[in-house]
Amino acid sequence: MTEGTNAPRGLTRSEIVALDRARVWHPYTAMDEFASKDPLVVVRASGARLFDADGRSYLDGNSSWWVATLGHAHPRLVSRVQRQVETLAHCAMAGIAHETGARLADALCRSAPPGLTRAFFTDDGSTAIEVAVKMAVQFWQQSGAPKKTRFVALEGAFHGDSIGAASLGGVEVFRRPFGAVLFDCVRVPFPDRDAYARAFEALSRAIVDGHDGIAAVVVEPLVQGSSGMRIYDAGFLRELRALATRHDVLLVIDEVFAGYGRTGPMWASEHAGVTPDLMCLGKAMSPFLPMGATLATDRVQDAFRGGKERALMYGHTLCGNPLGAALALEVLDVYREEKVLERAKAKGARIAAAFERLGAIAGVARTRSLGMIGAADLEKGAGHGGYLGSLGWRVYEEARKRGAYLRPLGDTVYVTPPLNIPDDELDTLLDIVTDSVEAALA
Ligand SMILES: *Cc1c(COP(=O)(O)O)cnc(C)c1O
Repeated sequence: MTEGTNAPRGLTRSEIVALDRARVWHPYTAMDEFASKDPLVVVRASGARLFDADGRSYLDGNSSWWVATLGHAHPRLVSRVQRQVETLAHCAMAGIAHETGARLADALCRSAPPGLTRAFFTDDGSTAIEVAVKMAVQFWQQSGAPKKTRFVALEGAFHGDSIGAASLGGVEVFRRPFGAVLFDCVRVPFPDRDAYARAFEALSRAIVDGHDGIAAVVVEPLVQGSSGMRIYDAGFLRELRALATRHDVLLVIDEVFAGYGRTGPMWASEHAGVTPDLMCLGKAMSPFLPMGATLATDRVQDAFRGGKERALMYGHTLCGNPLGAALALEVLDVYREEKVLERAKAKGARIAAAFERLGAIAGVARTRSLGMIGAADLEKGAGHGGYLGSLGWRVYEEARKRGAYLRPLGDTVYVTPPLNIPDDELDTLLDIVTDSVEAALA
């Protein structure tokens, strides 16, 4: 036998596409539509670029679903995981301590808003929310208020796709098929700039009237990512914190998208100067291994002290995995040592300026920006089509021709590039956005 005959032969681009079409079920994808088009076939990624098997490269306009805030294949992240895999790739966290897990929990609590003092590890953003839901319910059960079992969430919220997380979700097209099995929550309006007073009034009423039955309010801080990069005022979060404290309802802040500097400061909660009772992390926390965490205050943890019957009966098989933990630790070091947040400030200003200019194009109904986020709502003929609209997908096709991956949220086109994208690549990306929007609306 000659050497290497057992090694898998690399597939050609068309073989990959054929196999994919035959076997892969893609997320959030109309499969017939997908099969009718030539897909991107990514073979490699580095920095802010994805490389296709056809030899072209694409600027990653959304940091691969918001995870690659430090770009792809950051050498420090790669080598930290390589070192970890050689010593301890995995052991269960059930009654076992390991250095990377302990150090990560400490580093997360030190970096978080003051008062969050313990980390529970999960697999991703959805499970970070699931555990927060269970912690909140059991917290009240063990604090003499077992009737506090309901949750308040915003219209347009997105907190993940597992049943508990999806129950909190307020994006109608994501909920519709599963409505019959989702738990009911108290839905309050999104605090849009022109509807702020009405939204806050509705929230206040829900909490004042219902606090005896409410376990927690769950919100994405300052920006709802999946429902179309909808931004709201920090004052709402500040007033919500005060309201929740006054009426003894827990506040769960979902930093899965907004955290890690996406909105400017490390945590979007910092815009409002608030500390939640539970804070959920994922995505950029561990940009290429599944990992999430839920941070809790002393008050929440104290309700779980005592015997076995008071323990939190929850845990995922791979939770606290040392590879993910090592990666997440290195991410925090890179943020600090490479001054990622400081350097991103001027980049955020470039995004803001470009999206403001975009507002002048006929068919661009609304634009907005915050930190390293820029978004534009498109409207033509039938108006803004929401998540199922097709205008954003026309921009996607135009951007692909020009060398950028710009997956839209329906008729909302946005960028959330790596925080450390070089200025010249950022300018190229923003030029592609402008040219593609113009071409798509022409
Ligand atoms: C993506 C997202 C989640 C879910 O995270 P997964 O890792 O996809 O499970 C939860 N909350 C917010 C705000 C998100 O953007």
